[in-house]
Amino acid sequence: MPGRPALFLDRDGVIVVERDYLSDPADVALEKGAAELMRWARDGDIAMVCPTNQSGIARGRFGLKALEAVEAEIARQLADRDTAFDLVVACPFHPDFTPGYGEEEARWRKPGPAMLELAEKMMEIDLAASWLVGDKTSDVEAARAAGLRGAVHVLTGHGKSHRDKALSLATETFDVLPADDLRDTLKLLRDRF
Ligand SMILES: [Mg+2]
Repeated sequence: MPGRPALFLDRDGVIVVERDYLSDPADVALEKGAAELMRWARDGDIAMVCPTNQSGIARGRFGLKALEAVEAEIARQLADRDTAFDLVVACPFHPDFTPGYGEEEARWRKPGPAMLELAEKMMEIDLAASWLVGDKTSDVEAARAAGLRGAVHVLTGHGKSHRDKALSLATETFDVLPADDLRDTLKLLRDRF
C-alpha cells in the first residue's frame, strides 16, 4: 500500500513570517496564502506535515515550553482560518551545540530525511507522490533525500539567498519549482497531485 500523498510545509519563512529564533507567540504571523494553500490540500485529501528545524533549543535560546506555546499560537491562527496541520515534527539539534551530535542527529535535522520518514511511517504517506515547500536549500535537500516527487522553493523567509542552490538540486526524478510565495505555490501544485 503506497498510502496517500503529503504536502510538507516548512514553518519559519514559509507558513509563518521569518523571525530569527521565533519563541514568543506574540510574534507569530502567518505568511500570505498559507491558509488558502492548506485548505486546498485538505480538500484534496493531501496530508499536511510541518517538519521544522528548531536549533534555538540546542542553542539555549528557548526551551520546549516556548516551542509549544509558539506551535499552539500557529495552530490557533490556522484554526481561525479553518485549517490545521496533521503532524508537526520539530528537530532541536544543531551540530555545533548538541553534545554528541552524530549521524543519527544529522538524519533528523534537515537536510536529513528523518522527519519526513517519520511522517511516512506514522501516517502511511506515499513519499514518491509528495511535495515539500521550503525557503532554504536544506529543505529542498531533505525532500530529495526522502525521495519526494519534488519541492517548491519560495522567496519568502531566507529564500532569496538560497534560490540558485535550491534550483540546482533538481534531478531527472526530482523537480524543484521556483515560486515567489505561497499563492504562487498553490498555482504550481494544483495539477501536480
Ligand atoms: Mg524556513
